Amino acid sequence: MTERPINDILIVGGGTAGWMTAAYLARRLGSTRPDGVRITLIESSEIGIIGVGEGTFPTIQNTMRTLGVDEARFLREAGAAFKQGIKFIDWKTAPKDGIHSHYYHPFAQPRLLNGGLDLAPYWLMGEAGDIPFSDAVTLQDKVCEAMRGPKRRDDPQYGGPMAYAYHFDAGKLAALLRDVGKATGVRHLLGNVLAVNKADDGAIASVTTREHGDLVADLYVDCTGFAGALIGEAMGSAWIDKGDTLFVDRALALQVPYDRPDAPVATTTISTAHEAGWTWDIGLPDRRGTGYVYSSRHTTDDRAEQILRGYVGQAGDGLTPRLLKLKVGHRQAHWIRNCVAVGLSGGFLEPLESTGIVLIEAAAYMLARNLPRRGGMEAAARQFNAAMTDRYLRAIDFIKLHYCLSQRTDNRFWTDNADPASIPETLRDHLAMWKYRPPNVFDFPNLHESFKYFNYQYILYGMGFETRVDPAAHVHGDLARADFARVREAGLRAAAGLPDHRALLTEIHAHG
Ligand code: FAD
Repeated sequence: MTERPINDILIVGGGTAGWMTAAYLARRLGSTRPDGVRITLIESSEIGIIGVGEGTFPTIQNTMRTLGVDEARFLREAGAAFKQGIKFIDWKTAPKDGIHSHYYHPFAQPRLLNGGLDLAPYWLMGEAGDIPFSDAVTLQDKVCEAMRGPKRRDDPQYGGPMAYAYHFDAGKLAALLRDVGKATGVRHLLGNVLAVNKADDGAIASVTTREHGDLVADLYVDCTGFAGALIGEAMGSAWIDKGDTLFVDRALALQVPYDRPDAPVATTTISTAHEAGWTWDIGLPDRRGTGYVYSSRHTTDDRAEQILRGYVGQAGDGLTPRLLKLKVGHRQAHWIRNCVAVGLSGGFLEPLESTGIVLIEAAAYMLARNLPRRGGMEAAARQFNAAMTDRYLRAIDFIKLHYCLSQRTDNRFWTDNADPASIPETLRDHLAMWKYRPPNVFDFPNLHESFKYFNYQYILYGMGFETRVDPAAHVHGDLARADFARVREAGLRAAAGLPDHRALLTEIHAHG
């Protein structure tokens, strides 16, 4: 391909992927300066955004800080609340006689023993008694159970005693990102891309729009959602379907009101397993976002609606859920010639663990830092493709872990998920080793891994996975016991001392 400098970038699509990438690139590449890269975003006013992703990962703090958005403004304008992790209900076993099981995946890293030693082996040896793993190694379970916020109002912005991300309203976030992007120098066009025109070398020469004629750029970023209008239709990058590993392919989404204005706001996503999938329940200050994600091979849409209505109860009366058909998988190549896919056009891995926006952030950071502005496009594309594919594959392993460890047998959905043939070999290998030792840093050599060894520990031990550690190799039982006691005390103090989540949000939304 002929090497040409990158002075103009055209982003097609104005959902979270389009605007987050545009704003991030504009900020990093100096788009308000005369020598900066010029960025144009075109979005259709006829094709809406998907508008359902409402949960994030703590990386969002860094993104918003980089974009220059004050935290109180973010919380207000995105209609946001704090998220400190995920509470998983009924994933380990199906409810029996009204008894439900649960565990937490908190964002906090586990406390380390003096000298940086991992507490997991000691927990496995019973040194913490019968306290659940995450409760034994972090303070966050107690804070979440008490519905406390992760920080005080006067803590510095983007940070506090507890690790956290946010829940938000997807439509409001898109509007906020648009304002930030435009203020950072992004040119905004409303229009429909009708055709992609290619040069002799296979690169994109221009796109034809209905409203603005042909638009020419040096790099084209496909943020057209599941359509993949540039990377798929025009550049021919195949979609690698992952439905044999991750079975859910439909979602019913329903926004419901609180039963009273001062109802507590949950500070974790509540993910409850059901017969053929799971419901999400996300607490925002002024409403809840709920939905059922399920496998159409294991249940029907009617039964799915029954499950969702049963879960939300009276709050859903008179409301109609929105049905979404999902394509789970990723592109074979995310970057071909001068076309890069970011967001759903590049891949989608079902909402468990909120990987959508994390993968958008990862792609935007890498693109901004490694933009081949003066040359080296083919090599940059190869590096980007290898990194993004790795990220998708690792995230697939992590999501699959939640399903394949379940002891539920109430539907083939769960027994099929436990079938080794549906489990990626990389995850099977890890599980084989984790029978004898807990996950550690050496299992995840990629520095930029979204999910670290301790995220795996939370899921494994929350789900009751058995690791038979060698007591002879772990001789600091007395130190570990003292540490578990310290964590317990600190957890009780934090749960008593941090403000009520709703009260904190009310204060911030009212006064900043
Ligand atoms: P979209 O929002 O679909 O935007 C596509 C854009 O492309 C639109 O602006 C459209 O107008 C434009 N467009 C399309 N074709 C053309 C054309 N020809 N010309 C011009 N413009 C065009 N992610 C998370 O991180 N956390 C979650 O909790 C989460 N939950 C989810 C739950 C569900 C049920 C689903 C389906 C997804 C969830 N996601 C979640 C994923 C998240 O929603 C997406 O990753 C995110 O919204 C990015 O979407 P997007 O911008 O790629 O696509």
